[in-house]
Amino acid sequence: MDTKKNSIQTVDDLVCRNDFGTFFGVTQQTFDRVWNRLTAAEGNSAVYISMEIGADPDVFHPVRDFLLSRDWTKSPDPLVQQFIDKYLHGPRKIPNYSGGLGVLAGDTLKSFADTHIPVCAVSLLYREGYFSQLVDYKVGQIDHATRWIPGETPALFQLQEPGAPGTPLTVPVPLFWAGGDMIEVRAHVWMKMEISERLDYFVPEFLLDYGVPGAPPWIHEASRQLYSAKTPLIKANQRRMLGSGILPLMEKLGFTAHTIHLNEQHGITVTLHLMMRELEALLGPDFEERMTDRDILAAADRVGDRLVYTIHTPVKAGHDRFERSLYAQITRRGCTKILDLLAQDRDFPTGYNFTSMAMRINRAVNSVSRLHRDVTRRQFPAFAEKIGAITNGVHPGTWVSENRCRVFDSFTQLNDWRNDPGCFSRSNLAADPLFRRQLREAWERDNALLIEYINRMLILHRTQMAETWIEPPNYLSSLDDGFLHPGVYTIGFARRFSTYKRADLIFDDMAALADILLEKNRKVNFIFAGKAHPQDEPGKSVLKLIVDNQEELYKRSKGLAKLVFIPGYDMAIAKMMVSGTHAWLNSPKRPLEASGTSGMKAAMNAVPNISVMDGWWVEGYHDGLTGWKFGYEGPVEDADMSESADALLYEEDSNSFYALLPEILHTYYEEPEQYIDKAVNNLTLNFPIFNTHRMIAEYVSKYGLRLEPDVERQMEEYRRLYQSDYKNNPS
Ligand SMILES: *Cc1c(COP(=O)(O)O)cnc(C)c1O
Repeated sequence: MDTKKNSIQTVDDLVCRNDFGTFFGVTQQTFDRVWNRLTAAEGNSAVYISMEIGADPDVFHPVRDFLLSRDWTKSPDPLVQQFIDKYLHGPRKIPNYSGGLGVLAGDTLKSFADTHIPVCAVSLLYREGYFSQLVDYKVGQIDHATRWIPGETPALFQLQEPGAPGTPLTVPVPLFWAGGDMIEVRAHVWMKMEISERLDYFVPEFLLDYGVPGAPPWIHEASRQLYSAKTPLIKANQRRMLGSGILPLMEKLGFTAHTIHLNEQHGITVTLHLMMRELEALLGPDFEERMTDRDILAAADRVGDRLVYTIHTPVKAGHDRFERSLYAQITRRGCTKILDLLAQDRDFPTGYNFTSMAMRINRAVNSVSRLHRDVTRRQFPAFAEKIGAITNGVHPGTWVSENRCRVFDSFTQLNDWRNDPGCFSRSNLAADPLFRRQLREAWERDNALLIEYINRMLILHRTQMAETWIEPPNYLSSLDDGFLHPGVYTIGFARRFSTYKRADLIFDDMAALADILLEKNRKVNFIFAGKAHPQDEPGKSVLKLIVDNQEELYKRSKGLAKLVFIPGYDMAIAKMMVSGTHAWLNSPKRPLEASGTSGMKAAMNAVPNISVMDGWWVEGYHDGLTGWKFGYEGPVEDADMSESADALLYEEDSNSFYALLPEILHTYYEEPEQYIDKAVNNLTLNFPIFNTHRMIAEYVSKYGLRLEPDVERQMEEYRRLYQSDYKNNPS
């Protein structure tokens, strides 16, 4: 397996360069191979567009691991030493993501790299990333700007102007503007290398950095924070900076990708640029006056032939809509004609809906689970025919804890599990006593790590209370016996705090919950984490409720229940939680959670799920073999799509959870072998399917790429594991 790595003889072999700079992490040969494929005239590659990309080095960093395994920490060459220091000691966070969409993008790119698919990615660099979270016991969430220094971050490089080392590469980006002329803004470019596990390939991820010296204030404002929603104009400008930057960037680099994959519709304005070019070429310089609806529709078809579009949510906040009056200031006549025709929204006649537009201009559109496909068809009946499903996945090398990795690595049937997730279904691990024992021991170690982390946090909060104005967000930190103990049944929940995710569902009736624990004297830890978007007041109230519930739950249950909130949710906390808990809870309102991915991370670590029958769990639940289900699961009606507070079904679904909980506790405390059964089954039945290798194999079949025969064979292997679209209408 390590043959490629063995061709790396010295640390100097990891230095690579081209006209745009000097980089580190793969050999020159690998670097050139990737670059040549992406610049080849025939355009046999794809560019993946995402508003956010989450790929923190602290959860996956093959170059650092390799350096440490070879003990390569010193070099006489100062440049190489600088790289080594940056990779070993640089910051381990890139705060350029807010949640599931970004983490999925990062996992996707890592799977492209592992399997050598010719892809690059484009996103934005946010000078303050996504906000950092503090939580105060009285106030709830407090958001503050994130500080980070791109130049110090491992695997992130600023590109330089060819022939002028030290001068940042500058891409002129024309933006449409009312009045007809383009205004030109400039962006610098950072390249994050998503390097494969074997260091034999990478996917370059280009982050457009508009916050350059001399940029106008409105550009600085929009380049500061991911999903800044201070005004609709800032929001619209962020979308334009992504969509309008793609073509100029590709041209500057000489990249030729024919296929454009939009991960959500945020970058859809790229199609305006493509269509305006088409129409100008067809009709001449006065095309804006001359173009007819028919011309526009024909151009949309031609441009659409290059686009693949993934829609990620049925929730309205996820679909960009802008008032026509606002858009009139930032676009020109031709574009207005296009938008009037293609971005209509019957429920929003005064505005444009960019999801409608993305639905119209593409050659393939996919939703992110089977149930979500059916819901999306219902929401966009005009496009029902072409809406398919490619169920999400997560990246194996990123999400399996170190302790679990060690167990998998020690079984010969699993020796290539990072690349061959199907090995879990072929082996008979469920019946193997050695595997079961080792898995249980690894689980206990991961649980101990989580508990230790939380106890240290509780102590820290105590001192913090004395030293700062923040009231620590955990009631338990004020108690002498507030500490958690390993082995106590621990339920985890962590995700963005959007109201439809109903983080507080299981605390709807505290008396009922406490009674269940008191009846059989069962201890339970509830571990929560997650951020609410700073402008999402209802989401922040839910977070505050979790904190508010801590004391009451503790007292009502006579100390049996301990509810903890971990502030600052990120990928490292996610990884620790999905492996260190005993069950992963998911309680959204069906069918609003299009897929959900944190539950897949739990499955990869052989942790059972307790979930509403929504998103991926409709496909991952197997009659109780892999975990538990609760809540309403009847057919989806139009009324179920409502996100309003009175339609969130708290009472029904929380009662369903309370009815189930005694059985779960009984299994964990009295029937541990049965509990392990569910754990192992969640691993063997779901790991082969809900991983990004299988998912990208399904994407690649939409890209129309010609791949090398062995890569094509590998893609077919992955697709054989599962076909997301196989079964129509599961609901
Ligand atoms: C996986 C992950 C998410 C997404 O979780 P969902 O279950 O899809 O909501 C969000 N944030 C972080 C930090 C993650 O690691």
